[in-house]
Amino acid sequence: MTTRADTASKPVANIAASPTGDPWLLTPGPLTTSPTVKQAMLHDYGSRDGRFIAINRRLRERLVSIAGGGETHVCVPLQGSGTFVVEAMIGTFVPADGKLLILINGAYGRRIARICDYIGRAYATQETPEDVPVDPGALDQALAADPSVTHVAVIHCETTSGILNPLHEVAEVTARHGRALLIDAMSVFGAVPLDAKAIRFDAVVASSNKCLEGSPGMGFCIARSEALQAAKGNAPSLSLDLHDQWAAMEANGQWRFTPPTHCILALDQALDEFDAEGGVAGRGGRYLDNCDILVSGLRTMGFRTLLPDALQAPIIVTVHMPADPSFEFETFYNRLSDAGYLIYPGKLTVADSFRIGCIGRLGSEQMHGALAAIRDVLAEMGVRDCAPATAGKPQP
Ligand SMILES: *Cc1c(COP(=O)(O)O)cnc(C)c1O
Repeated sequence: MTTRADTASKPVANIAASPTGDPWLLTPGPLTTSPTVKQAMLHDYGSRDGRFIAINRRLRERLVSIAGGGETHVCVPLQGSGTFVVEAMIGTFVPADGKLLILINGAYGRRIARICDYIGRAYATQETPEDVPVDPGALDQALAADPSVTHVAVIHCETTSGILNPLHEVAEVTARHGRALLIDAMSVFGAVPLDAKAIRFDAVVASSNKCLEGSPGMGFCIARSEALQAAKGNAPSLSLDLHDQWAAMEANGQWRFTPPTHCILALDQALDEFDAEGGVAGRGGRYLDNCDILVSGLRTMGFRTLLPDALQAPIIVTVHMPADPSFEFETFYNRLSDAGYLIYPGKLTVADSFRIGCIGRLGSEQMHGALAAIRDVLAEMGVRDCAPATAGKPQP
């Protein structure tokens, strides 16, 4: 990608910067956070300080309750980006003699297979195209055919495309076959319901910096207590051993190794704001409004989105690249950035695309602002037609 200086030929009239002057992040994370979440980080806490330990305890309880876990589940937080806790989940829950069946329809499913290669866990994969949900019927057959599979891994929303996978059906099939379910809910946790009382899983992982709108720096695992206790000694890595992290935290309330103190303070504040917004229903509702504004605005301009509405999670929208020769993505990206909106390149293998996120501390004002900026930039670039080269599937 060229640097901004290459293309920022003329000043953009309407710079719609956030209160900090930073561009709005229309990305899958890290995301725009509220001023009060940023302010919460202006403190230095000692890791053994009683106040800090109390915040940790409260944080863990709140995260369990978002997943409907109550008495049956526990929260194990872990330092690092989301991938660290995905890797920790796989290594901790799948024993050395276990076998993981990975349901794949994008980059994050493929990443779990890479993790298994690194840590030496046996696995099989079941892949559907990136614009097709994972298939519970095929899972049913695969589990019947292969009794050596002990665990199933699924991505709740595959951020590669923004597609929502059929979690309830996958959980039902997996439980019916007596296998354990591991869920990467990173990109939707807190915005799309996931209820431990309604579906059976051994572990679900997510991170501080996506729909919970905290700062980057930590992930967490919501685990069924019995499954976590049974996972003692499985992990091939000390720092990524969720059982050890949990046991130490239960013993003295402290993290084993340096905690991301500022990130924890930010997440605690972010959860206050999450509650004030009405929890999962409120947060998910705002994102759904954002997504609707974005999708209908883009379609009005002639863009074609990848997914039909029924499969679209209200998180990130994948847009086909226009075929108009005047459209050039780097210029489009850089000029939108100059106008105060950061979008995201595509990650699809099936089609040339880019992505626009609608999560983080963004509302209708930012969505309409982004659409107006897109309209201006297209006009500047002389793009007349936003349709992709191939007509693709008809939009619903
Ligand atoms: C963001 C994300 C992750 C973690 O990515 P990091 O860059 O390591 O934070 C994992 N899975 C999914 C589905 C995600 O959206």
